[in-house]
Amino acid sequence: MYIVMLGAPGTGKGTIGKILSNDLDLVHISTGDIFREQINKGTELGKKIQGYIENGALVPDDVVIETVQTRLLEEDVSNGAILDGFPRTATQAEALREFLKQNKPGAKRVAIELDVPDDEIIERIVNRLICTNKSCGAIYNKKTKPPKQENVCDICGSELKRRDDDNKETVTKRLGIYHQNSKDLIDFYRKNNALYSIYPKNLDKAVEEIKNFLEEYKFNIVRK
Ligand code: ADP
Ligand code: ZN
Repeated sequence: MYIVMLGAPGTGKGTIGKILSNDLDLVHISTGDIFREQINKGTELGKKIQGYIENGALVPDDVVIETVQTRLLEEDVSNGAILDGFPRTATQAEALREFLKQNKPGAKRVAIELDVPDDEIIERIVNRLICTNKSCGAIYNKKTKPPKQENVCDICGSELKRRDDDNKETVTKRLGIYHQNSKDLIDFYRKNNALYSIYPKNLDKAVEEIKNFLEEYKFNIVRK
């Protein structure tokens, strides 16, 4: 099963995506994480995309599509995957559909939309702290979910940092770009796939509801 996580930055795609990945035994593929890793390593790809990400702009479709297709052909993606942060444009969604049709025939595809009001999103993102240990990646919030010890991860003890692009100016820009593309994207999935929309107010409850939906979806009882 291929699960696409839709939603503006800061709606919890990463947090919820990681929980689902763990519980459903599907690999979690985050384009943002892949890109940040490439930037940190200073690869050719990293150099090409750094400017876009720092400015809160979208990386060009062809670059994103190639990155994701390469990742989806790796061996650990036999069962399916949770796609977090991709697709973000209708062009990317089309490309994904064609790719899955050809390379993963018969695989179920479903989209989950996390819908959160913008003012709440901005509040979440400017207070977001992320564990610098890549294999942990735990996400905290200075106000709503602070670590026990300042700037130290509760889980692995590594340092917590704010992402370079998590400032108010860039967030506002990322939100604007999301809203420009989201209608087409949501329409695409409404027409082509099962789409489940949820306002994830409480994390555990949201995960439970999504799992219930997926359970039903597996048996083809598609809720719209
Ligand atoms: P957020 O959802 O908080 O914006 P991500 O980690 O998903 O964070 O993405 C960070 C940045 O990486 C985006 O602002 C954008 O520049 C780039 N990026 C990630 N995924 C895509 C994509 N599918 N298409 C274009 N750019 C992307
Ligand atoms: Zn950690």
